[in-house]
Amino acid sequence: MSPAVIALGSNLGDREANLRGAIAALDAIEGVTVTAASGIVESNAVKPEGSDAAAPDYLNAVALVQSELPPQYLLDELNRIEAAFGRVREEPWGDRTLDLDIVAFGSLASDSARLTLPHPRAWERPFVIVPWLQVDPDALIPGVGRIAALDAATSSEVWPFDAAALFEGATR
Ligand code: ATP
Ligand code: CA
Ligand code: CA
Repeated sequence: MSPAVIALGSNLGDREANLRGAIAALDAIEGVTVTAASGIVESNAVKPEGSDAAAPDYLNAVALVQSELPPQYLLDELNRIEAAFGRVREEPWGDRTLDLDIVAFGSLASDSARLTLPHPRAWERPFVIVPWLQVDPDALIPGVGRIAALDAATSSEVWPFDAAALFEGATR
């Protein structure tokens, strides 16, 4: 069993339902148990050129899981769930019904293109760091440090989205 941190995002369709359904689908993976889910945060879409107020806003959350699956198999399952929620990949950072990223898998470091761990951009993303802090205030990113000390932790680029807890026993 390894602890892993999963980032969830949606900016198309019923965004809240997509996140809610994704948490249930994560917990339903054989060998994966969700142990906590953050509240939902909202933010403007980011495109390769920068913040894009014309694109639909994102909802994001972070889930903590325990995984018996090795990380590459967990990623296969995440890709399967994305597809089940109608994810279509067109352009980089394009609008999507559901994005599921592995932010960290235990203290594992991996630099393959298929799976880079920890996720190389998580540390600079308020929409990952703010909800991650809600479920693990003491979290560390190897090579980066405590997430509580990052600029992203106090960014005004994300705001709370009012919704019922995503997970039974969830930390909010
Ligand atoms: P970003 O990686 O900047 O968050 P994205 O989530 O929009 O961008 P995707 O199109 O969802 O990018 O994924 C591109 C590729 O990233 C996938 O094919 C996947 O194999 C790879 N990848 C590498 N590391 C990870 C990781 N830690 N979690 C999820 N996917 C990863
Ligand atoms: Ca992503
Ligand atoms: Ca992704």
